[in-house]
Amino acid sequence: MSKRSHTRIALTATSLLAVSALMSPAATASSAPSGAHFGGTAAASQPKAWGPDAVNTASSREGTAPAKASYFASYGKVVLYYNDANAPSYRSLIASAASIWNSSLTRVQLVRTTGSGDIRYYEGNFGDAGSTARWSSPGHGTINIDYAQTNTYSPLRVVAHETGHVIGSLPDHYSGPCSELMSGGGPGPGCTSPYPNASERQRTDANY
Ligand SMILES: [Zn+2]
Repeated sequence: MSKRSHTRIALTATSLLAVSALMSPAATASSAPSGAHFGGTAAASQPKAWGPDAVNTASSREGTAPAKASYFASYGKVVLYYNDANAPSYRSLIASAASIWNSSLTRVQLVRTTGSGDIRYYEGNFGDAGSTARWSSPGHGTINIDYAQTNTYSPLRVVAHETGHVIGSLPDHYSGPCSELMSGGGPGPGCTSPYPNASERQRTDANY
């Protein structure tokens, strides 16, 4: 609870407004962030907690496709840079989630950056929306990590799950088992697995 400082909330709100402006700190978007609240696309039978939390903003301009050829030439993998500057409480968890995904994938490498990055994490109190992910193309998007949700569910699973949305363009599948990362909060708070299953790994790699 001590994480919920007013300063941090204010910073997060500012950051949300700047999302569509590609991290320009000076930008004060005149329109409300379209991703702050998400439509009720979930079936009634799906658990309310932890969803719907995924929005593929393919028609927006959150990012551009990576220069895949040059990345491959340098690293042998597509490198995706992530920025955790606006999620300082979750820095180590984000690093752990990145490590899990890195060891799970053959074609993608997540690397931390202090630059704008391809993937940007934010923390805050996001209310009913909870933790969410928005992406315009695989590997390019923003992730909100919600304090209340990570106090109830495994925070590492939450972070790994939201990361999976962005890097894998993976949809939610709340009815899945705990062994499926994209089942999210479906299996309940007792499910702490942060690992993508074989299908999720394969589908994520297939994007690159
Ligand atoms: Zn989700």
